[in-house]
Parts: sequence; C-alpha cells; structure tokens
Amino acid sequence: MLTLTTADVRMNAQASDKQQALQVLAQILQDDGLATADYLHGLMARESQAATYLGQGIAIPHGTPESREAIIQTGVRLVHFADGVAWNDAGDKVYLAVVIAAKSDEHLQILQKLTHALQGDVADGIAKATNADEIMAALGGTSSLLIQESLIDTQVGSEQYDEVFLQSLSRLKAHHAISSRAITAPKPTVLSQAVSCVILENQPQILTSAFALSVNPNSKQALAVITADKKINTDKLSWLYDVLMSDAFAQAVQSGEKEAILSQLGIQSQSDWQSLSVVLPNEHGLHARPATALSELAKSFDGDIRVQVDGGAFVSAKSLTRLLSLGAVKGQTLTFIAQPDTDAQNALPKLVEAVQAGLGESVSATSAIPVAKKQTDQSDNNQVALVDGEKIRAVAASTGLAVGESYVSKAVKYNYPMTAQNPAEQMTQLQTAINAVKDDLRQLVASAKNADIAQIFTAHIALLEDEEVMFGAKDGIDDGLSAPAAWHAFIEELAAAQASLGNHLLAERAADLRDVGHKVLLKLIGKTEQTAPQNPYVLIKEDLLPSDVANLDPTKVAGIITAVGGSSSHSAIVARALGIPALVGAGQQVLSLENGTQILLDGGEGWFVVNPEQSLIEECQQAQSLRREQKRQAMQHAHEPAITLDGHRVEVAVNLGNVADTATAVANGAEGVGLLRTELVFMSHHQVPDIDQQIADYEQVFDALDGRPLVVRVLDIGGDKALPYLPMAAEENPFLGLRGIRLLLSRPELLRSQLTALIKASKRRDLRIMFPMIGRLEEWRAARAILDEVLAGHPHDNLQVGIMLEVPSAAVMAPIFAKEVDFFSVGTNDLTQYVLAIDRGHPLLSKDADGLHPSILTLIAQTVEAAHAHGKWVGVCGELASDPAAVPILVGLGVDELSMSSSSIALTKAKIRALTLTDAQSLAKQALQCDSAMAVRELSLTVAR
Ligand code: PEP
Ligand code: MG
Repeated sequence: MLTLTTADVRMNAQASDKQQALQVLAQILQDDGLATADYLHGLMARESQAATYLGQGIAIPHGTPESREAIIQTGVRLVHFADGVAWNDAGDKVYLAVVIAAKSDEHLQILQKLTHALQGDVADGIAKATNADEIMAALGGTSSLLIQESLIDTQVGSEQYDEVFLQSLSRLKAHHAISSRAITAPKPTVLSQAVSCVILENQPQILTSAFALSVNPNSKQALAVITADKKINTDKLSWLYDVLMSDAFAQAVQSGEKEAILSQLGIQSQSDWQSLSVVLPNEHGLHARPATALSELAKSFDGDIRVQVDGGAFVSAKSLTRLLSLGAVKGQTLTFIAQPDTDAQNALPKLVEAVQAGLGESVSATSAIPVAKKQTDQSDNNQVALVDGEKIRAVAASTGLAVGESYVSKAVKYNYPMTAQNPAEQMTQLQTAINAVKDDLRQLVASAKNADIAQIFTAHIALLEDEEVMFGAKDGIDDGLSAPAAWHAFIEELAAAQASLGNHLLAERAADLRDVGHKVLLKLIGKTEQTAPQNPYVLIKEDLLPSDVANLDPTKVAGIITAVGGSSSHSAIVARALGIPALVGAGQQVLSLENGTQILLDGGEGWFVVNPEQSLIEECQQAQSLRREQKRQAMQHAHEPAITLDGHRVEVAVNLGNVADTATAVANGAEGVGLLRTELVFMSHHQVPDIDQQIADYEQVFDALDGRPLVVRVLDIGGDKALPYLPMAAEENPFLGLRGIRLLLSRPELLRSQLTALIKASKRRDLRIMFPMIGRLEEWRAARAILDEVLAGHPHDNLQVGIMLEVPSAAVMAPIFAKEVDFFSVGTNDLTQYVLAIDRGHPLLSKDADGLHPSILTLIAQTVEAAHAHGKWVGVCGELASDPAAVPILVGLGVDELSMSSSSIALTKAKIRALTLTDAQSLAKQALQCDSAMAVRELSLTVAR
C-alpha cells in the first residue's frame, strides 16, 4: 500500500505551463528510479483524455494503463509548484502535483492519503507551503459522507449535462445535503468511459457531504455529484473514487442494472423494504432514555431495521449511538424500514406503537397520534392498521362500489449474477428459456378468445424466432456475462434503438420486444410473472399514472386503490374517466395487503374495508343497485339536451384524454368534447408524434364527433404532467414553473406543429382551441400570434380561440381578456389549487382543495359576467363540473357549458333537467355569501332535499 511521507515531497518546482510541469514530474520519477523517460507519454496521454485536476490546487497526474510498461517501481511524489501551473481549460492552478507511478491500481489508494484535499480551507495552505512539513500538515482529515439508495437514480431521462446536474442537486437538497439548488454546474471530470464526476466544495449552500448518482439508461452514462463539507471523511471519499473509477463500476453503469450499481457501492437496496412512520411525541426528543428503549426493542427482532428522521439518512434502529446521532426532536417524523423476508417486518407496528406510547416516558395522547411521512407521496393513512372489517378512510376519487379480491401490483426487482464462467452453458440456458416462452405463447394463442390477442402472441413468437433475437445475447455471454445479464442488456439495447427510430410501428415493436424479453428473463431466473386474477379484482398500486390507462381492462378491474394521490390528481381523473370506483392516497400500507384479500370499497364516500362482513357487502350492494337504477334511467335520456324546467339549456360535453374514447362519449350523451387533454394523447406515443401522427389522432375525434364541437387544449405539460420523452429540468416549484403555456412559448416549434396538425385535421369543422395556464395577457397574445402565423398558411373559418381559466390573475383580468378571447373554460382543479394555495395532489391537504369554496365561485361569477358582457361563453371543465352539489350552483352562476368524464354525462344532464334556472340562480347567490366550501355543500344539499 502506498503511503505519503515528507520524504516524498519535492518543493520549489518551476514550470511555465502544464506541458513543462509534466516534464518536471516525469523527470523526478525518473531520477528517483520509479519510471523510465517513456512514462512522460503516459502522463501526457492521460491528461489529454481528462485533466487530473482534483480541486483545491491539487492534481493527481498519472499514466495510462498502456504506460505501465514504463514503471520500474510503484511510488508517488508530491511536487510543489509555488507559482502554480494552469492545469485545465477552466484555468485552475495546481500548486501540488501528486504524481503517481503505479503498476496496478494502487494509485487509487493515494486518494485516501489526501485528507482535507477537497476542503475549502486547504487550498491556501497548500499554495503557500514553504516546506514538506507544511504540505503534510495541510493534508489531514475527519469524517461523514452520505451514500444511499435514494440518492441514486438509474432512470434519468435527460442526456443534457445541465439538466442531469440540476436533478442531482434536487436529490441532494431533498436529503438536506445542500440548502439551495442555486449552484452553477462546474465542468465534470471524466473518471471512466461511463462515469463523470463533479465535486462541489467550498460553497455556502453545502450542508453536508453526500453523493448523488444519475444514470441515463439510454446513453449508459453516469454523472456523480459529490458535495464535500469541511469534515468530509476522506477515507470514504477515496474509497468512493476507487469505486467510481473502476472498470467494474463502468460495467455496472453500462449494464443499466440498478442492483449491480448499488452492489458496487456497497448499498443494499431498500426499495422493497416495508416502511412505517410516526411522529415523535417525546417532549425532549429522542434522548438517551427513549433511544435506549427503542434500540432494545429493535434488537429483539432479527433482520435489519433502519430509521430516518424527516426524510434524512437511514441509520440502524438497533444502534443506540446511531439513534442519538439523529438528533430527532418532538414533532419530527421517524420512518422505520424493515429488511424484507425477515422478522424485522413484524417489528414495524411494534416500534410505531412504542414510539406513540412514549418509549418509557409519559407523553400526551394527542401528540402520539401518528401522521404521515413528510414526503408528498405518502398519505396520512400510513399508520392506520388494516384491521379486518373496519372502514378505513382514503380520498374519494371515483364514485361507485366495488367488491373483489385484492391484486397488489408492485414493481418487481430481480437479482441474478452479472457474470458467469461457462459461456456454452449460459447459451444453452438461454435457448431453453426462449423455447419455454415460445411454448407458453403457443398455448396462449390456442386459448385466446379474441383474434387480436391471438395475433399479438403470434407476433411475439415470431420475434423470438428471429435469428437476431435468438443469438443477439451471444456476444455478451462470450464476454463473460451471465445469460440473464447478457439477455437483458441486449433486449434493452435493441428496444431502445428501435424506439429511437422515429417510426411509430417500430416504437411499438420495441414495447413488444421488452414484453417478450421480460418473459424470457423470468424463465431464466426461475420466476413467474405476476398475473392479474381472472375475476374482477381490486387493483392496488402505488400510483396510477395516466399512461396506465392503456394497460387497464375496465371489465376486469372492479375497483382501484392507490397508496398516494389526491382527488384531483391525474390518477383520480384517469379512474373517473374509466368509470372505475377508486380511492387514492390510501397510504403505503395497502401495498402490503396479501393478494386475494377480499376488499370492499366505496369510491364516492371514500372508504374501504378489508375482509368485510357479508352483511355489509349486501347493504352496500343494495345502495349500489339503487344508484345503478338512477344511472339506467338517466342513460335512457342521455341523448336529449340538458334543459332546465324553465327552458334554459346548458351544454354537456366530455373531457377526453384518449382519442379512441370519443365514440363512447357520444354514445353516453356528450354534445361535444369540452376538453381534449392533448398531453394525454401525446402520452400514447413513445416520442413526440409528428404532424401526420397528430393529424391521424385528431381526425379520429372529429370523425367520431360527426359535426359536434371539439374544444382542444394544446399541450399542458409541467406540474404533475410529464412526457417521458420530453425531459424537463426539475424545478423547485413545478406548479409555479415552466408549465402549460409557459413551456409551449419556450418551445414554439412544438406549439406550431400542434396547431398546424389541429387545423389540418379539422378540415374546417367546428374547432375550438384553448391555451392552458394563461395568467397574463402577454402570454395569451404571444400564443395567439403563433396561431395567427399558422392560420396565415392554413386559413380556417370555423374556429374559436379561447383560454383555460386556471390562474387567478386571468380570472381577475377576465373583463380585459373577454375583449380578445372567444371563450373561457374554467379549469377548477388548478384554479382551486392556485386560489387556495393547496397542492391538488397533496396527500394530506388536497381534501381541502374544494372548488365550491366561495372564493372560487366568486371568480367564476365575475368571469361569466365579463364574458357575457362581450357575447362570449364560459365552460367549466374541471372536476367541479360533474360534482352533484356544484352543478346547480354553476348553472345558477350562468356557466354555459359543463364538461366532464363520459361516465358522468347522463346523470348530470338528468340533474340539470330537474332544476329551474331561477332556483339555481338564487342558490348561486346564497352560495356566494357563504363563508366556506363546507357551508356551500350543506346549502346545496339542503336545497336538493
Ligand atoms: C383543471 O385544471 O381544472 C383542468 C381541467 O386541467 P387539468 O386537470 O388537466 O390540469
Ligand atoms: Mg389544469
């Protein structure tokens, strides 16, 4: 092992530039009998690949692997250049060159000796050193460097350095390693063919030393961002450098396997560990006595148990010193996680109970009530035990009652060896697995009840018979990879290449490839696929993404429960659109339900029951059949207009996110499309659809509408909506950032092509275009100007142009907007979140984001008044439009059109037909005088009775 002593230090070196400095260094190594003169070429070659500047005036010049021939004996010299030598393009000056001649990888150990080397206060000491002792004195060190799974992202979408850097900063900030992300991206240092690295040091934003890794699975490149505080554990840092520079790590990055990367970093994956959180009620925090009680309790269970405070780093719950080091104070959230498949999982409820009970100290009853983890992806149901037969509350998302067996859909991780000794054996295993999958597929073809499904599986068999696919993994296996590792890498590479070709059909084939690839992988590692039950089941998922729509079979899914989400989150909207009863924000514990557990849920009232009594099921079923009867009756009149008893007509339209659903919506009574969420249409593509693909999509809607109006919202991306192929930089406040029209104006080519496609597809049919998230007249005018440019080339005489009214400023300025726009469509989901300052997806708060709040109603009333004064119309397309308590009030406020999910249309029309406009107006007037949303709801219910 290499060591550094004063005897290795050479003072008073002189060089006017880096080239000369390298000559000086090579000469010193030669003079000391460590290397031959040829080593200079190795030093130069390494520098031309990547400058070896480390930071704080220190560089670590060393040769390339090829130049090892020139090394006589392993050694290191610390050479001081008192005047400094410019070392890289950024002009950083090196005062201390730690030149290394190492026959193998020992030089990496040298980093361990550079204690304090990356600290802010070292540069000066190094630069001004006048003797070897001062140099050695400047190199000395202490501890702490956070390396954990949650700081590692192996699915980074962007390949742009600035964006990836910013995303890394976001993770570091979430882990309290930095106080702000306002840090300029420095030039990264290339550590290997797959890994680049940035060290942040000496910046006021740095709170603690930590390591974030961002891996792009397509480019197979990783960016490591390290924050180094003054107490950084340089031994650990050196070790980390060793890892990051190693070939094994580069290989792990290029394999795209998160497990492989974590294992190189010595991290045991915790993503499938169960978790439970609780607020610490102890007056004086987790001091020695309660901490001892906690660690003793944790120790009584086998398996690993860890705990974090308020989303910070995890430590062992069994270690008293670690617990004390958390410094947890009253009111902070302790989150425990337990190693899977061990006794530790049984410990979680016991630990939470013990914390609630005060860990041997007396605590007040109220302070012991558990609350959710602070992260927004958790709900306040986290600690609610799933007791059989008891009603458990969750956020109501889509009305209806569902009974069925639970089916918990979780992302599964697979472990398999990355390398294998015997390629021939691995190849045989792969062929056997491929054949077995083909047999399974043949059976599926034979038993398929539907020709389309049979066709898909036939195509999958053909894929596996393709020679390129059958033998594509051979190279990887010959290089020493195991069959699963080589197969997975090959399929991913092939699929990614196809997906990137810009051809829709090939992109779809990429999805098929991944699908069969997954089946073969499962065979190889002896696992079976999680299959959804055949009987109607209750789907339980972490979250339901808009892109999940494609995979849901509404005939099989009786109900949905998600662990996270709020009532106007997109997961809730998706469930409503599918007409499936759903609850969201039910808490992480629902994910631990056994598959096949009987569940009863009411998506309207917002509760579910695990293993319910038969009598409760029957009671609910009776109520459900009553509702069904109401719906059946409403459906009989679905195609009639919604006209109040005193002759006032309100248009009822549909909100769509999928063009193929238009015909069903018309069949359900839609009088037009009131909101086409085109970002959801884009999501059904694997890349930005070109103009022709867009035209095909929009034509499908126009054709199905058969002359009815189509209100299209141009892309509304940002906030909680992202397109996987359109990476956006992470933002501190995405809902207040580059979303909606702001994003489109920053990418005008995207807007222009969408507008062109819409106008071309409409062929002068009734087209109404609206811009999302307009807050200022400047935005509206800029967007309108782009539309005018497009219209100059493609005139249209049946076009209206309006805005979504979602931003409070637009509502306040409605009298001015009304002069310029043709219509307003009130997006109450966003308007409510911005007016009440409540995140619409917040698991704890979103229940209070009620669009019936008098402040929102007042803004709608003002907008209607301003619009009507200029002969313009107003629609409501947020979730409020189909809320039974809101419909009479909105009608009374003068709203001209209500747009909602297809499944709500018939009932809403029936509701309107039972009203008189005069009653609705007087109700609306009273509602405007109420002091809360709850009061408005009570008022509406009382009047309805
Ligand atoms: C709204 O904000 O009310 C709306 C309809 O838009 P989205 O829900 O798609 O953001
Ligand atoms: Mg909106």
